[in-house]
Amino acid sequence: MEAVEVHRRVLRGWSPERKTTMKAFEATQYYFDKAADILDVSPEIRQLLITPRREVRVEIPVEMDNGRLETLIGFRVQHNNYRGPMKGGLRYHHEVDLDEVRSLASLMTWKTAVVNLPYGGAKGGIKVSAQDLSRREKERITRKFVDQIHDIIGPRTDIPAPDMGTNADTMAWIRNQWEKYNGFDPAVITGKPVDQYGAEGREEATGRGVGILTFKMLQRLGRRPAETTVAIQGFGNVGSHAGKLLHESDFKIVAISDISGGYYDEQGIDIPLALRHTLRNGSLEGFEGAKKISNEALLALDVDVLIPAALGGVIHAENAGEIRADIIIEAANGPVHPGADEILQSRGTLILPDILANAGGVTVSYFEWVQNLQHYKWGLNRVRQELDSVLSRAFEDVWQTSTEKEVSLRTAAFMIAIQRVYRAAELAGF
Ligand code: NAD
Repeated sequence: MEAVEVHRRVLRGWSPERKTTMKAFEATQYYFDKAADILDVSPEIRQLLITPRREVRVEIPVEMDNGRLETLIGFRVQHNNYRGPMKGGLRYHHEVDLDEVRSLASLMTWKTAVVNLPYGGAKGGIKVSAQDLSRREKERITRKFVDQIHDIIGPRTDIPAPDMGTNADTMAWIRNQWEKYNGFDPAVITGKPVDQYGAEGREEATGRGVGILTFKMLQRLGRRPAETTVAIQGFGNVGSHAGKLLHESDFKIVAISDISGGYYDEQGIDIPLALRHTLRNGSLEGFEGAKKISNEALLALDVDVLIPAALGGVIHAENAGEIRADIIIEAANGPVHPGADEILQSRGTLILPDILANAGGVTVSYFEWVQNLQHYKWGLNRVRQELDSVLSRAFEDVWQTSTEKEVSLRTAAFMIAIQRVYRAAELAGF
């Protein structure tokens, strides 16, 4: 469906049934419109702000290791560049489609605006099962993709980064292939290996940011970490780094999970032990430091804080009634579907929205870009301090708007982001 048509449907209003079935881009627009209603944004300006600048779809013919020719489909959606060059990850996953990439691209516009980074938003992806690819296949696919999009990305136009299925090596291949056309400029991409113009602390940044913001939120509510129980769904990059920081800050993490299932100990899980287990075994499978539970049971645990850090849409209208945590930190992108959001809000559940909660990654990506442009490298302590200060400021902005306007933290975050993008658009003469 065209972005403009989605927007028209949003403006026509939603029925409760629609809220349970809407796809990723519609769900983002639903949250956008709630904030735009309060700001009294006209339909014309809404259309301007939600319509992506450019949507590129390319064919990627590639020879696989077994000699077979496969044609993959890749996307890059450049949503908005009023506030600066566009920024967003590149995802290799078998479920990648235009709707998802479009939704994630627009989320990046609001995310960079709410933490006040001088960027717009973009996202890309290739529809391919990353875990089924050999390293050589992945490299060939990546280089072919860059051959097709090298003229629309660049340090001052659109700066990709890693996402699901891609990593620092993928970023190094992208930089190398792009530089064949354009010459040396490592600022074309972030999330590079640390010894290849990457930033110290980029890998831990999203999870660390989740930890910092959880701490800020609890502080605001006058709750003490040692008396706060936490459940984390997903123990990959984001979930494990968040778990590490929260554990070090004295929070009691009673449950963690990954694709192999959930692990629960009401006395608190030994997180360093779980981290060592995943490092050795690649997942939590076989972890003996806790009782095994299902991923559904983890979501319904009677904890203070629930951190979904795996997939989008895991909390929806059907299971919202079972959620007992009174604070949800959206570490994943879009883990709470609009159908569940209203149920939870009406029960008083506090939800820290994804556009703020997981913005630590793009913030340190911004630091990497700044270092590349200045040809100067920061140490880990400086990265951590600057991350703390950017996220703390953003949290205070959102908390204050939420209190003053008596709106949810999500609506407050979208209101701040929309106002910032609108102002830049207005000054640019639309
Ligand atoms: P990852 O692949 O490193 O980890 C994902 C984790 O989720 C793994 O432990 C996996 O086993 C687990 N998982 C998968 N399916 C599950 C299921 N059905 N139930 C429970 N666990 C399941 O990915 P990541 O980088 O940690 O990203 C996690 C989420 O955070 C994604 O939504 C991503 O878009 C979002 N995010 C990541 C970053 C980043 O910098 N990595 C930045 C912003 C947002």
